[in-house]
Amino acid sequence: MKQWELQCSRCSAKLPFRYQDMKCTCGGTLLVNYDLEHVAQTFSKTSLALRYPSMWRYHELLPIHDPSHIISLGEGWTPLLRLPEWESKLSLKRLMIKREEQNPTGSFKSRGFSVAVSLLKQAGATKAAVPSNGNAASALAAYAGRAGIQAFVFIPMDCPSLIVDECPMYGATTVLVDGFIHDAAAIIESGRIEQGWVNVGTLKEPGRVEGKKTMGLELAEQLGWTFPDVIIYPTGGGSGIIGMWKAFLELKELGLIDCDMPRFVCVQEEGCQPIVDGLKRSSGGTPPIESNTASPVGDRIIPNPTGMRVPNPPDLELLLSIVEQSGGTAIAVSKAQIAQATHSLGSEGISSSPEGAATWAAMLALCDKGWLRPTDSVVLFNTSHAMKYAKLGASAAIPIIRTYDDFMIYRNL
Ligand SMILES: *Cc1c(COP(=O)(O)O)cnc(C)c1O
Repeated sequence: MKQWELQCSRCSAKLPFRYQDMKCTCGGTLLVNYDLEHVAQTFSKTSLALRYPSMWRYHELLPIHDPSHIISLGEGWTPLLRLPEWESKLSLKRLMIKREEQNPTGSFKSRGFSVAVSLLKQAGATKAAVPSNGNAASALAAYAGRAGIQAFVFIPMDCPSLIVDECPMYGATTVLVDGFIHDAAAIIESGRIEQGWVNVGTLKEPGRVEGKKTMGLELAEQLGWTFPDVIIYPTGGGSGIIGMWKAFLELKELGLIDCDMPRFVCVQEEGCQPIVDGLKRSSGGTPPIESNTASPVGDRIIPNPTGMRVPNPPDLELLLSIVEQSGGTAIAVSKAQIAQATHSLGSEGISSSPEGAATWAAMLALCDKGWLRPTDSVVLFNTSHAMKYAKLGASAAIPIIRTYDDFMIYRNL
Protein backbone atom coordinates (compact mmCIF):
# COMPACT_ATOMS: atom_id res chain seq x y z
CA MET A 1 0.00 0.00 0.00
CA LYS A 2 1.00 3.61 -0.59
CA GLN A 3 1.41 5.79 2.52
CA TRP A 4 -2.39 6.06 2.63
CA GLU A 5 -5.48 4.81 0.84
CA LEU A 6 -9.23 4.95 1.39
CA GLN A 7 -11.32 2.34 3.15
CA CYS A 8 -15.09 2.12 3.44
CA SER A 9 -16.30 2.33 7.03
CA ARG A 10 -19.28 0.09 6.13
CA CYS A 11 -18.13 -2.65 3.72
CA SER A 12 -14.33 -2.31 4.30
CA ALA A 13 -13.61 -2.03 0.54
CA LYS A 14 -10.24 -0.42 -0.15
CA LEU A 15 -9.68 2.21 -2.84
CA PRO A 16 -6.81 4.42 -3.94
CA PHE A 17 -6.74 7.84 -2.28
CA ARG A 18 -8.74 10.69 -3.84
CA TYR A 19 -9.66 14.09 -2.44
CA GLN A 20 -13.36 14.25 -3.26
CA ASP A 21 -16.41 11.96 -3.49
CA MET A 22 -16.20 9.99 -0.25
CA LYS A 23 -19.26 7.79 -0.77
CA CYS A 24 -18.55 4.11 -1.38
CA THR A 25 -20.77 2.26 -3.88
CA CYS A 26 -22.35 0.50 -0.86
CA GLY A 27 -23.42 3.88 0.55
CA GLY A 28 -20.82 3.90 3.34
CA THR A 29 -18.28 6.66 3.97
CA LEU A 30 -14.70 6.33 2.78
CA LEU A 31 -12.08 7.17 5.40
CA VAL A 32 -8.30 7.50 5.12
CA ASN A 33 -6.32 4.42 6.04
CA TYR A 34 -2.60 4.85 6.81
CA ASP A 35 0.32 2.48 6.49
CA LEU A 36 0.88 2.44 10.24
CA GLU A 37 4.15 0.52 10.00
CA HIS A 38 5.50 3.39 7.96
CA VAL A 39 4.03 5.93 10.41
CA ALA A 40 5.62 4.15 13.39
CA GLN A 41 9.11 4.73 11.98
CA THR A 42 9.00 8.37 13.05
CA PHE A 43 5.85 8.75 15.18
CA SER A 44 6.62 7.99 18.82
CA LYS A 45 5.94 9.49 22.24
CA THR A 46 9.51 10.77 22.47
CA SER A 47 9.69 12.24 18.97
CA LEU A 48 6.35 14.00 19.52
CA ALA A 49 7.47 15.52 22.81
CA LEU A 50 9.97 17.69 20.90
CA ARG A 51 7.56 19.01 18.31
CA TYR A 52 5.92 22.37 17.71
CA PRO A 53 2.59 22.94 19.55
CA SER A 54 0.32 22.67 16.50
CA MET A 55 -1.96 19.94 15.21
CA TRP A 56 0.55 19.45 12.39
CA ARG A 57 2.84 17.78 14.97
CA TYR A 58 0.84 14.68 13.93
CA HIS A 59 1.71 15.09 10.24
CA GLU A 60 2.44 11.37 9.73
CA LEU A 61 -1.27 10.77 10.40
CA LEU A 62 -2.47 13.47 8.00
CA PRO A 63 -2.72 12.87 4.22
CA ILE A 64 -0.35 15.58 2.94
CA HIS A 65 2.87 14.56 1.15
CA ASP A 66 4.68 17.82 0.83
CA PRO A 67 4.98 20.23 3.79
CA SER A 68 4.87 23.16 1.36
CA HIS A 69 1.19 22.33 0.74
CA ILE A 70 0.25 22.74 4.40
CA ILE A 71 -2.08 25.71 4.87
CA SER A 72 -1.82 26.70 8.50
CA LEU A 73 -3.02 29.63 10.57
CA GLY A 74 -1.80 28.25 13.90
CA GLU A 75 -4.60 25.74 14.59
CA GLY A 76 -4.75 23.07 17.27
CA TRP A 77 -2.87 22.24 20.48
CA THR A 78 -5.61 24.02 22.43
CA PRO A 79 -5.58 24.01 26.25
CA LEU A 80 -7.29 21.28 28.24
CA LEU A 81 -8.50 23.08 31.33
CA ARG A 82 -9.35 21.28 34.58
CA LEU A 83 -12.21 22.44 36.79
CA PRO A 84 -11.21 21.05 40.22
CA GLU A 85 -13.95 22.75 42.25
CA TRP A 86 -16.63 21.24 40.06
CA GLU A 87 -14.97 17.84 40.28
CA SER A 88 -15.60 17.73 44.00
CA LYS A 89 -19.02 19.38 43.73
CA LEU A 90 -20.22 16.87 41.15
CA SER A 91 -18.20 13.85 42.36
CA LEU A 92 -16.23 13.27 39.19
CA LYS A 93 -12.67 12.02 39.07
CA ARG A 94 -11.74 14.68 36.54
CA LEU A 95 -13.68 17.34 34.68
CA MET A 96 -11.88 19.05 31.83
CA ILE A 97 -12.81 21.35 29.03
CA LYS A 98 -11.04 21.37 25.70
CA ARG A 99 -10.83 25.01 24.71
CA GLU A 100 -11.46 24.73 20.99
CA GLU A 101 -12.70 28.32 20.82
CA GLN A 102 -9.02 29.32 20.84
CA ASN A 103 -8.49 28.14 17.28
CA PRO A 104 -7.61 30.78 14.66
CA THR A 105 -11.14 31.15 13.28
CA GLY A 106 -12.73 31.08 16.74
CA SER A 107 -14.01 27.52 16.40
CA PHE A 108 -12.65 23.99 15.98
CA LYS A 109 -13.65 24.11 12.31
CA SER A 110 -10.13 25.51 11.78
CA ARG A 111 -8.71 22.02 12.23
CA GLY A 112 -10.79 20.37 9.52
CA PHE A 113 -10.29 23.15 7.03
CA SER A 114 -6.55 23.37 7.56
CA VAL A 115 -6.35 19.78 6.28
CA ALA A 116 -9.15 20.08 3.69
CA VAL A 117 -7.65 23.21 2.11
CA SER A 118 -4.13 21.72 2.22
CA LEU A 119 -5.54 18.77 0.24
CA LEU A 120 -7.05 21.18 -2.30
CA LYS A 121 -3.67 22.88 -2.60
CA GLN A 122 -1.99 19.48 -3.04
CA ALA A 123 -4.51 18.61 -5.78
CA GLY A 124 -4.23 21.99 -7.52
CA ALA A 125 -7.94 22.80 -7.04
CA THR A 126 -8.92 26.46 -7.41
CA LYS A 127 -12.54 26.71 -6.18
CA ALA A 128 -14.25 25.24 -3.13
CA ALA A 129 -17.81 25.49 -1.85
CA VAL A 130 -19.40 24.59 1.49
CA PRO A 131 -22.91 24.48 2.95
CA SER A 132 -22.50 25.62 6.52
CA ASN A 133 -24.30 26.79 9.64
CA GLY A 134 -21.52 29.34 10.02
CA ASN A 135 -18.24 28.21 11.49
CA ALA A 136 -17.38 25.91 8.57
CA ALA A 137 -18.06 28.79 6.20
CA SER A 138 -15.76 31.19 8.01
CA ALA A 139 -13.06 28.51 8.35
CA LEU A 140 -13.19 27.66 4.62
CA ALA A 141 -13.13 31.39 3.85
CA ALA A 142 -10.05 31.98 6.00
CA TYR A 143 -8.00 28.96 4.91
CA ALA A 144 -8.95 29.30 1.24
CA GLY A 145 -7.97 32.96 1.45
CA ARG A 146 -4.55 31.98 2.75
CA ALA A 147 -4.17 29.32 0.06
CA GLY A 148 -5.24 31.57 -2.83
CA ILE A 149 -8.29 29.38 -3.51
CA GLN A 150 -11.70 30.91 -4.25
CA ALA A 151 -14.30 30.11 -1.57
CA PHE A 152 -18.09 30.01 -2.05
CA VAL A 153 -20.12 29.70 1.14
CA PHE A 154 -23.86 28.94 1.43
CA ILE A 155 -25.29 29.70 4.86
CA PRO A 156 -28.84 29.17 6.23
CA MET A 157 -30.43 32.47 7.24
CA ASP A 158 -30.69 31.70 10.99
CA CYS A 159 -26.90 31.63 11.32
CA PRO A 160 -25.43 34.20 13.76
CA SER A 161 -24.80 37.40 11.81
CA LEU A 162 -21.25 38.05 13.01
CA ILE A 163 -20.15 34.66 11.63
CA VAL A 164 -21.79 35.48 8.30
CA ASP A 165 -20.04 38.86 8.22
CA GLU A 166 -16.62 37.25 8.68
CA CYS A 167 -16.85 35.36 5.40
CA PRO A 168 -16.73 38.25 2.90
CA MET A 169 -14.03 39.81 5.07
CA TYR A 170 -11.86 36.76 4.28
CA GLY A 171 -12.74 37.20 0.61
CA ALA A 172 -15.36 34.46 0.20
CA THR A 173 -18.38 34.76 -2.09
CA THR A 174 -21.08 34.58 0.56
CA VAL A 175 -24.83 33.94 0.25
CA LEU A 176 -27.63 33.29 2.73
CA VAL A 177 -30.01 30.43 1.99
CA ASP A 178 -33.67 30.50 2.93
CA GLY A 179 -33.67 26.92 4.23
CA PHE A 180 -31.68 24.33 6.18
CA ILE A 181 -28.09 23.20 5.70
CA HIS A 182 -29.25 20.35 3.41
CA ASP A 183 -30.99 22.93 1.19
CA ALA A 184 -27.69 24.82 0.98
CA ALA A 185 -25.96 21.53 0.11
CA ALA A 186 -28.47 20.87 -2.69
CA ILE A 187 -27.65 24.25 -4.27
CA ILE A 188 -23.94 23.38 -4.31
CA GLU A 189 -24.62 19.99 -5.89
CA SER A 190 -26.72 21.69 -8.62
CA GLY A 191 -23.88 24.02 -9.57
CA ARG A 192 -20.84 21.87 -8.77
CA ILE A 193 -19.94 20.81 -12.31
CA GLU A 194 -20.84 24.07 -14.04
CA GLN A 195 -18.96 26.18 -11.49
CA GLY A 196 -16.00 23.84 -11.00
CA TRP A 197 -16.46 23.72 -7.22
CA VAL A 198 -14.98 21.08 -4.98
CA ASN A 199 -17.67 20.41 -2.37
CA VAL A 200 -15.95 20.47 1.02
CA GLY A 201 -19.16 19.77 2.97
CA THR A 202 -19.17 17.27 5.86
CA LEU A 203 -17.96 13.82 4.69
CA LYS A 204 -17.73 15.01 1.05
CA GLU A 205 -13.92 15.00 1.21
CA PRO A 206 -11.41 13.34 3.56
CA GLY A 207 -9.63 16.35 5.10
CA ARG A 208 -12.19 17.55 7.60
CA VAL A 209 -12.47 14.23 9.45
CA GLU A 210 -8.67 13.90 9.44
CA GLY A 211 -8.29 17.44 10.80
CA LYS A 212 -10.83 16.85 13.57
CA LYS A 213 -9.05 13.60 14.33
CA THR A 214 -6.21 15.68 15.78
CA MET A 215 -8.51 16.59 18.71
CA GLY A 216 -8.39 12.94 19.74
CA LEU A 217 -4.63 12.67 19.22
CA GLU A 218 -4.12 15.81 21.27
CA LEU A 219 -6.38 14.67 24.10
CA ALA A 220 -4.44 11.44 24.39
CA GLU A 221 -1.08 13.21 24.41
CA GLN A 222 -2.22 15.95 26.82
CA LEU A 223 -3.53 13.26 29.20
CA GLY A 224 -0.11 11.56 29.28
CA TRP A 225 -1.00 8.98 26.60
CA THR A 226 -4.27 7.79 28.09
CA PHE A 227 -7.89 8.25 27.06
CA PRO A 228 -10.52 10.01 29.16
CA ASP A 229 -13.46 7.83 30.24
CA VAL A 230 -16.10 10.06 28.66
CA ILE A 231 -16.16 12.59 25.82
CA ILE A 232 -19.14 14.96 25.68
CA TYR A 233 -19.39 16.51 22.24
CA PRO A 234 -21.92 18.87 20.64
CA THR A 235 -22.78 16.94 17.51
CA GLY A 236 -23.98 18.26 14.18
CA GLY A 237 -22.75 16.37 11.12
CA GLY A 238 -20.56 14.33 13.43
CA SER A 239 -17.17 14.60 11.72
CA GLY A 240 -15.57 15.22 15.12
CA ILE A 241 -17.01 12.02 16.58
CA ILE A 242 -15.83 10.01 13.57
CA GLY A 243 -12.44 11.74 13.64
CA MET A 244 -11.75 11.18 17.33
CA TRP A 245 -12.91 7.57 17.18
CA LYS A 246 -10.49 7.05 14.31
CA ALA A 247 -7.69 8.80 16.24
CA PHE A 248 -8.11 6.47 19.19
CA LEU A 249 -8.14 3.36 16.98
CA GLU A 250 -4.96 4.51 15.21
CA LEU A 251 -3.18 5.16 18.54
CA LYS A 252 -4.17 1.71 19.78
CA GLU A 253 -3.02 0.09 16.55
CA LEU A 254 0.28 1.95 16.78
CA GLY A 255 0.67 0.42 20.23
CA LEU A 256 0.95 3.84 21.90
CA ILE A 257 -2.08 3.33 24.15
CA ASP A 258 -3.65 0.27 25.63
CA CYS A 259 -6.77 1.37 27.52
CA ASP A 260 -10.53 1.20 26.96
CA MET A 261 -12.05 3.50 24.37
CA PRO A 262 -13.85 6.51 25.84
CA ARG A 263 -17.68 6.54 25.97
CA PHE A 264 -18.89 9.07 23.42
CA VAL A 265 -21.83 11.29 24.33
CA CYS A 266 -23.47 13.19 21.46
CA VAL A 267 -25.19 16.35 22.64
CA GLN A 268 -28.00 17.72 20.49
CA GLU A 269 -30.57 20.47 20.61
CA GLU A 270 -34.13 19.53 21.61
CA GLY A 271 -36.17 19.29 18.43
CA CYS A 272 -33.13 18.69 16.17
CA GLN A 273 -31.96 15.35 17.55
CA PRO A 274 -31.42 12.73 14.85
CA ILE A 275 -28.84 10.83 16.93
CA VAL A 276 -31.06 10.75 20.02
CA ASP A 277 -33.96 9.54 17.87
CA GLY A 278 -31.71 7.07 16.04
CA LEU A 279 -30.64 5.48 19.33
CA LYS A 280 -34.29 5.19 20.36
CA ARG A 281 -35.03 3.27 17.15
CA SER A 282 -31.91 1.14 17.29
CA SER A 283 -32.02 -2.37 18.71
CA GLY A 284 -28.45 -1.98 20.00
CA GLY A 285 -29.78 -1.35 23.47
CA THR A 286 -28.22 2.02 24.39
CA PRO A 287 -31.23 4.20 25.14
CA PRO A 288 -30.61 7.94 24.94
CA ILE A 289 -30.81 9.94 28.17
CA GLU A 290 -33.85 12.11 28.79
CA SER A 291 -32.82 15.41 30.33
CA ASN A 292 -35.02 17.45 32.65
CA THR A 293 -35.95 20.69 30.99
CA ALA A 294 -34.72 23.79 32.82
CA SER A 295 -37.11 26.53 33.79
CA PRO A 296 -37.68 29.21 31.14
CA VAL A 297 -35.21 32.08 31.19
CA GLY A 298 -37.47 35.04 30.54
CA ASP A 299 -36.75 37.28 27.60
CA ARG A 300 -32.97 37.03 27.80
CA ILE A 301 -31.55 36.80 24.30
CA ILE A 302 -30.43 33.22 23.73
CA PRO A 303 -28.31 32.58 20.66
CA ASN A 304 -29.06 29.53 18.55
CA PRO A 305 -26.74 26.51 18.71
CA THR A 306 -26.65 26.41 14.92
CA GLY A 307 -23.50 24.22 14.77
CA MET A 308 -25.65 21.35 16.09
CA ARG A 309 -28.54 22.06 13.71
CA VAL A 310 -28.05 19.24 11.26
CA PRO A 311 -31.35 17.37 10.89
CA ASN A 312 -29.86 14.83 8.43
CA PRO A 313 -26.25 13.91 9.29
CA PRO A 314 -24.56 12.51 6.15
CA ASP A 315 -23.72 9.14 7.80
CA LEU A 316 -26.06 8.69 10.77
CA GLU A 317 -25.48 4.92 10.74
CA LEU A 318 -21.74 5.39 11.36
CA LEU A 319 -22.38 7.84 14.20
CA LEU A 320 -24.86 5.50 15.88
CA SER A 321 -22.47 2.59 15.60
CA ILE A 322 -19.63 4.58 17.20
CA VAL A 323 -21.83 5.76 20.06
CA GLU A 324 -23.12 2.23 20.67
CA GLN A 325 -19.76 0.48 20.36
CA SER A 326 -18.24 2.95 22.80
CA GLY A 327 -20.96 2.40 25.41
CA GLY A 328 -21.88 6.07 25.04
CA THR A 329 -25.21 7.76 24.64
CA ALA A 330 -26.93 10.82 23.19
CA ILE A 331 -28.87 13.54 24.93
CA ALA A 332 -30.88 16.55 23.80
CA VAL A 333 -30.82 19.78 25.79
CA SER A 334 -33.09 22.83 25.60
CA LYS A 335 -32.18 26.42 24.81
CA ALA A 336 -33.02 27.31 28.42
CA GLN A 337 -30.51 24.75 29.71
CA ILE A 338 -27.93 26.10 27.27
CA ALA A 339 -28.51 29.66 28.49
CA GLN A 340 -27.97 28.62 32.11
CA ALA A 341 -24.85 26.67 31.17
CA THR A 342 -23.41 29.68 29.35
CA HIS A 343 -23.53 31.56 32.64
CA SER A 344 -21.99 28.69 34.62
CA LEU A 345 -19.06 28.52 32.20
CA GLY A 346 -18.88 32.30 32.07
CA SER A 347 -18.42 32.46 35.84
CA GLU A 348 -15.44 30.11 35.40
CA GLY A 349 -13.98 32.66 32.98
CA ILE A 350 -14.79 30.59 29.91
CA SER A 351 -16.43 32.17 26.89
CA SER A 352 -18.58 29.45 25.39
CA SER A 353 -20.62 29.18 22.24
CA PRO A 354 -24.13 27.78 22.74
CA GLU A 355 -22.85 24.42 21.42
CA GLY A 356 -20.01 24.38 23.96
CA ALA A 357 -22.43 25.36 26.73
CA ALA A 358 -24.71 22.50 25.64
CA THR A 359 -22.01 20.02 26.70
CA TRP A 360 -22.05 21.52 30.20
CA ALA A 361 -25.85 21.22 30.37
CA ALA A 362 -25.57 17.61 29.18
CA MET A 363 -22.87 16.84 31.75
CA LEU A 364 -25.10 18.13 34.57
CA ALA A 365 -28.00 16.00 33.36
CA LEU A 366 -25.75 12.92 33.07
CA CYS A 367 -24.50 13.46 36.65
CA ASP A 368 -28.06 13.88 37.79
CA LYS A 369 -29.13 10.58 36.20
CA GLY A 370 -26.14 8.75 37.64
CA TRP A 371 -24.86 7.99 34.13
CA LEU A 372 -21.57 9.70 34.99
CA ARG A 373 -19.75 7.98 37.83
CA PRO A 374 -17.25 9.19 40.47
CA THR A 375 -14.53 7.17 38.71
CA ASP A 376 -15.04 8.99 35.41
CA SER A 377 -12.69 11.48 33.90
CA VAL A 378 -14.76 13.61 31.57
CA VAL A 379 -13.84 15.95 28.71
CA LEU A 380 -16.25 18.59 27.39
CA PHE A 381 -15.67 20.34 24.07
CA ASN A 382 -16.13 24.10 23.97
CA THR A 383 -16.26 24.22 20.20
CA SER A 384 -16.53 27.97 19.69
CA HIS A 385 -16.48 31.39 21.31
CA ALA A 386 -19.48 33.32 22.73
CA MET A 387 -18.30 36.37 20.81
CA LYS A 388 -19.09 34.82 17.45
CA TYR A 389 -22.74 34.52 18.53
CA ALA A 390 -23.07 37.99 20.03
CA LYS A 391 -26.03 40.05 18.88
CA LEU A 392 -25.70 43.76 18.29
CA GLY A 393 -27.83 45.59 20.84
CA ALA A 394 -27.63 42.78 23.40
CA SER A 395 -25.87 45.18 25.79
CA ALA A 396 -28.90 47.51 25.90
CA ALA A 397 -29.73 46.34 29.43
CA ILE A 398 -26.34 47.46 30.76
CA PRO A 399 -26.46 50.91 32.45
CA ILE A 400 -24.45 53.87 31.19
CA ILE A 401 -23.07 56.23 33.85
CA ARG A 402 -20.91 59.37 34.08
CA THR A 403 -20.11 59.62 37.80
CA TYR A 404 -19.70 57.58 40.97
CA ASP A 405 -23.04 58.96 42.19
CA ASP A 406 -24.69 57.51 39.08
CA PHE A 407 -23.08 54.20 39.94
CA MET A 408 -24.52 54.28 43.48
CA ILE A 409 -27.97 55.14 42.13
CA TYR A 410 -27.70 52.14 39.81
CA ARG A 411 -26.49 49.90 42.66
CA ASN A 412 -29.44 50.88 44.86
CA LEU A 413 -32.08 50.37 42.22
C1 LIG B 1 -19.75 22.41 13.41
C2 LIG B 1 -19.94 22.67 14.83
C3 LIG B 1 -20.34 21.66 15.72
C4 LIG B 1 -20.65 20.25 15.26
O1 LIG B 1 -19.48 19.56 14.91
P1 LIG B 1 -19.51 18.23 14.02
O2 LIG B 1 -18.19 17.60 14.22
O3 LIG B 1 -19.75 18.67 12.63
O4 LIG B 1 -20.63 17.39 14.54
C5 LIG B 1 -20.41 21.97 17.07
N1 LIG B 1 -20.13 23.21 17.53
C6 LIG B 1 -19.77 24.22 16.71
C7 LIG B 1 -19.49 25.55 17.28
C8 LIG B 1 -19.66 23.98 15.34
O5 LIG B 1 -19.29 24.98 14.55
